[in-house]
Amino acid sequence: MYPVKVETVALNRDGGKQKLERAKISLNDCLACSGCITSAESVLITQQSHEEIYKVLRNNKAGVPEQKVVVVSVSPQSRASLAARYSLSSSEAGRRLTGFFKGLGVRYVFDTSFSRSFSLLESQREFIERFRRRDHDKQALPMLASACPGWICYAEKTHGEFILPYVSTTRSPQQMMGSLVKGFLAGQLDLSPEQIFHVTVMPCYDKKLEASRPDFYLKEAETREVDCVITSGEVLKMLEEEKLSLSDVESAPLDTMFSSVCGEEFTGHAGSGSGGYLHHVFIHAATQLFGEEVKELTYKTLKNRDFQEVTLEKDGVVLLRFAATYGFRNIQNLVQKLKRGKSPYHFVEVMACPSGCLNGGGQVKPLPEQDNKELLQRVEDLYRAEQCVVPEEEQRVADIYHTWLHGVGEERARELLHTQYHAVEKTNNGLLVKW
Ligand code: SF4
Repeated sequence: MYPVKVETVALNRDGGKQKLERAKISLNDCLACSGCITSAESVLITQQSHEEIYKVLRNNKAGVPEQKVVVVSVSPQSRASLAARYSLSSSEAGRRLTGFFKGLGVRYVFDTSFSRSFSLLESQREFIERFRRRDHDKQALPMLASACPGWICYAEKTHGEFILPYVSTTRSPQQMMGSLVKGFLAGQLDLSPEQIFHVTVMPCYDKKLEASRPDFYLKEAETREVDCVITSGEVLKMLEEEKLSLSDVESAPLDTMFSSVCGEEFTGHAGSGSGGYLHHVFIHAATQLFGEEVKELTYKTLKNRDFQEVTLEKDGVVLLRFAATYGFRNIQNLVQKLKRGKSPYHFVEVMACPSGCLNGGGQVKPLPEQDNKELLQRVEDLYRAEQCVVPEEEQRVADIYHTWLHGVGEERARELLHTQYHAVEKTNNGLLVKW
């Protein structure tokens, strides 16, 4: 999603302000998705720009008493987007980004595929719990994935009380990393959370709003779990401001504490470019609930390629029916079906952007001579070229579960790896369109 401000000034991709021509919007353009950001939200977005990182790094260099350990966590979608711009492999882009950030004074550079493993494992566990209580809890299913803040924003502002019980409480990879960095890492370094300045690099602006949610603010330490979010496009802007091409930046060894790597190569997860939630929950549920080992998923395209379905059938009976629903038109259809009690799904991977996170509004834009579709395909190919790992088999993840979180499914894991949602009361004015 793009930040839209219906005034004469708008935020551009690098966080600066730009004078707008008067926009012409008709009712036909409105999806009634409630996704427009408010002025308070736009203020939160401006507070999170690459200028903030430079400010902290400058203060560190100037030797101010309140020194901060700066940590940057890069999403695999952003890595692929920057790799496409500089004709690098995704891993090579990751190593060079590590070199770039460390050259600026950043202490650690991590990879949010690592924290996504926690998000996938918790989603799997939550789904099994919900499936088992579906007979006495009508709001247990379908479980709606929650990693997309654009979708969460819509869910909270539209039909909140109705829809929110279905939304998975599992944190997104960004906020899992927030918990790991300000909790686990701070403990390892013997620091308090506010002594760390945690930056994430993400494919969309909505992640800035997610990081600003009060649910991810540590009251005692008076700090956010993610202090600043910058987009892939803002990293490009930083490189340009430093007069650097990522291809010429020297690579640096990866920080393996919170990175999913095999040797010097990054690893990823199977499934969609939005995290593979459907893929992993489906395979896990098929084994755990029905003893069926699924090696490959067959996606059936429904209304369009952003609305797909996967089923597990046995003897002509559908045991599991999952869907991936991307873009607001498809999301609206899903919500309407749910309201009419006609949704046949057990799980839905919901993402606000058509084509999902690889196509996020904060990704690097095509050059004038580049075709948008071709660029998206290139980014997807680079993203998929990484070797896939199964979260259950990641030793480092298992170690953190058993030490810091006291084990899978334990109270501490629920507290640190889950969140909650809040219905936003609707303002009743004549401009609201009811579809
Ligand atoms: S689909 Fe992905 S990129 Fe788009 S708004 Fe959601 S989280 Fe951001």
